[in-house]
Amino acid sequence: MKITIVGTGYVGLVTGACLAEIGNDVLCLDVDPKKIEVLNNGGIPIHEPGLKEIIDRSRAAGRLQFSTDVEAGVAHGDVQFIAVGTPPSEDGSADLNYVLAAAREIGRHMNGFKIVVDKSTVPVGTAQRVHETIRTELARRGAAYGFSVVSNPEFLKEGAAVEDFMRPDRIVIGVDADETGHRAREAMKRLYAPFNRNHDRTLYMDVRSAEFTKYAANAMLATRISFMNELANLADSVGADIESVRRGIGSDPRIGYHFLYAGTGYGGSCFPKDVRALIQTGAENGHALRILDAVEAVNDAQKHVLIHKIVERFGEDLNGHTFAVWGLAFKPNTDDMREAPSRTLIRGLLERGARVKAYDPVSMDAARVAFAADLDASPDERARLTFVRTEGEALPNADALLIVTEWKAFKSPDFAALRTALKTPIVFDGRNLYEPATMLEQGFEYYAIGRALPP
Ligand code: NAD
Repeated sequence: MKITIVGTGYVGLVTGACLAEIGNDVLCLDVDPKKIEVLNNGGIPIHEPGLKEIIDRSRAAGRLQFSTDVEAGVAHGDVQFIAVGTPPSEDGSADLNYVLAAAREIGRHMNGFKIVVDKSTVPVGTAQRVHETIRTELARRGAAYGFSVVSNPEFLKEGAAVEDFMRPDRIVIGVDADETGHRAREAMKRLYAPFNRNHDRTLYMDVRSAEFTKYAANAMLATRISFMNELANLADSVGADIESVRRGIGSDPRIGYHFLYAGTGYGGSCFPKDVRALIQTGAENGHALRILDAVEAVNDAQKHVLIHKIVERFGEDLNGHTFAVWGLAFKPNTDDMREAPSRTLIRGLLERGARVKAYDPVSMDAARVAFAADLDASPDERARLTFVRTEGEALPNADALLIVTEWKAFKSPDFAALRTALKTPIVFDGRNLYEPATMLEQGFEYYAIGRALPP
């Protein structure tokens, strides 16, 4: 099938590459000429395991193109995916300017029947607005092409995006109940058939429910994280081990083991903004979403949990102290720094006068950009932050090691070497990577999240 992807970010690029990999003829559009240039030169603007290989293969086979030419781009696809960003507005609601701009471009340049697919995460009612926007553009042109707007939210996880797209748990498709909706449903069925060989994973529903499903999923996952973080903080106070508690409750199939890890709070481009957007949708409709208010408040507080522990240990004034930080990306296997807990932690350390030596296996470039923006107004703080090239380089002269992202490479370090390299053998582990008793035995002072040893 001929596919156009409008917006070549994490979701658009993965969607385009995966749909090309299975044989479709895909054109990815973006307004950012630098991004398109990188892709056209054989590079890749993001880190995502397995993505480069499938992009290279499909480009070589002539099934995947990248362009900034909107007119030709829109003309290309019978199916137009909108995969642009939906960042938070000031009041927390999803900013739909990019989505509606993409809809306008489609309306302006479409040259026949098109199926327009909202892949971006958008609030309930957005498909209708996309529909109206395209209709207005067509009317302005005096054109009368048919089209249908489908909701097909994306559930991929950064860091495992290709795998998730290729082997989805479910494919949610919201279509209208009219004739064009039926036509769109048949086209989507055909497009996704290769992902359904083993069994049909597609859930068809009305458009509004599909839009809602994406927010409901992210809100539930964020709730599990905040729930465990809140219990972990209590476990610290009462001398219980949240890891034992996690296994104790996860073994109940009604609860399950997934997404019950305590840590330094959730970050990334999705959970924070989607929770806020759903709260805002609630407010607009007269429903206070009290659980989600709490989920967000708990998460904001949790991003400071390591700082509180550090201040408790070293005092409020951290002048003269140096900290090694392992892990900057908001989670492993990605270079995404959006709303990463490391940003809150490092700012907190620098504000208190500390020096920081920071390392991440893949997000160093993205981290430099993120901290340059965060510390724009504080050259003094900026000067106290150093990025190093290896985890080992972060350790000499450090008063403690802080672990913020659970990269595999951090899971089993040479503890003897670590103890010797640090100025003082102190570890603040924001991801509960190690066993407290073992760390104690090995001569470390060890602080984790909710892992107090019994009194
Ligand atoms: P992103 O910021 O990485 O990419 C968006 C891209 O759209 C950018 O490259 C931008 O230049 C481009 N763009 C903006 N306006 C455009 C226009 N008019 N025409 C063409 N290109 C345009 O965003 P993302 O992380 O890929 O997220 C996209 C959407 O998918 C969001 O709604 C997000 O919530 C949702 N989503 C993201 C993830 C994730 O893990 N990142 C997962 C599921 C859903």
